[in-house]
Amino acid sequence: MHTEVLVIGSANADLVVPAERRPGSGETVLGGDTTVLPGGKGANTAVAAARLGADVALLAAIGDDAYGAMLTESLRDAGVRTELVRKVGRPTGIAYITVTPDGENSILVSPGANSALEPGALDFAGAKVLVASLEIPLPTVEWAIAEAASAGVRTMLNLSPVAELSPRTLAALDVLLVNEHEAAALLGEGVGLGKLLELGPRSAVVTLGARGALVLTGDGETEVPAPPVEPVDTTGAGDAFTGALAASLATGVTLETAARMAVRVAAISVTRRGAQPSYPSAAELEGR
Ligand code: ADP
Repeated sequence: MHTEVLVIGSANADLVVPAERRPGSGETVLGGDTTVLPGGKGANTAVAAARLGADVALLAAIGDDAYGAMLTESLRDAGVRTELVRKVGRPTGIAYITVTPDGENSILVSPGANSALEPGALDFAGAKVLVASLEIPLPTVEWAIAEAASAGVRTMLNLSPVAELSPRTLAALDVLLVNEHEAAALLGEGVGLGKLLELGPRSAVVTLGARGALVLTGDGETEVPAPPVEPVDTTGAGDAFTGALAASLATGVTLETAARMAVRVAAISVTRRGAQPSYPSAAELEGR
């Protein structure tokens, strides 16, 4: 297998239901029609990278059910390799998302099959970058990073949702990717972002929402501004950024150049609804 970008992470069906308000305990509220969308941080990241033309495989776990089939189909449509998407004896992960008229989401995640993603043999032949995110068991994430690092593959971790990593894993990371909240959870409130490198990774990228991103390397800090856009839906923007950063790094460019590309991709994604459907293709990006 010759995959340049290997993504390990979650795959979920997102069940989105609009409602006037959230039901309280013991209460029933009638909502609008349910929309079923492919999601999960791992699947979103893989789709974002593949749309940009990278050769991408996803290592994930799904159930032997209709949502698993829907997720596999959406991955294949985007050009993601699915040989490493394992069927396990648990239901496919589901995110139950209630959206109220104020635009706020409340989300209940049933991880299901994602919880059963165990370490297993991995072939890194041809791989340039491994990208991991959470929503799968932490030992599996730490295992994949250790394996990739010893195979000489660049390692990237999107620490979302935030989790406590071993010093060994942090030291094996080429790129630690976090948003501002995750950075604060790691460092403590009010601690300068430059301290992220003291945790062990060789470089770090902090996404700053509408302000873009901050790139931290041994050579110093670089601010990468986001293009100004009218945001419509920021769901999956962090995953778009992650996938674009990985796809770009796999072409051999510097982290700063990759981040400049990632802010453009993420900015386009926030101008459209949904996560995966909002991710641009390489051709579309060039046309801008
Ligand atoms: P997360 O979605 O993980 O919380 P951020 O909110 O930092 O992460 O968003 C990730 C990236 O998406 C940002 O670095 C930026 O490039 C892009 N982005 C998010 N919101 C906007 C916005 N309003 N305008 C332009 N780009 C945005």
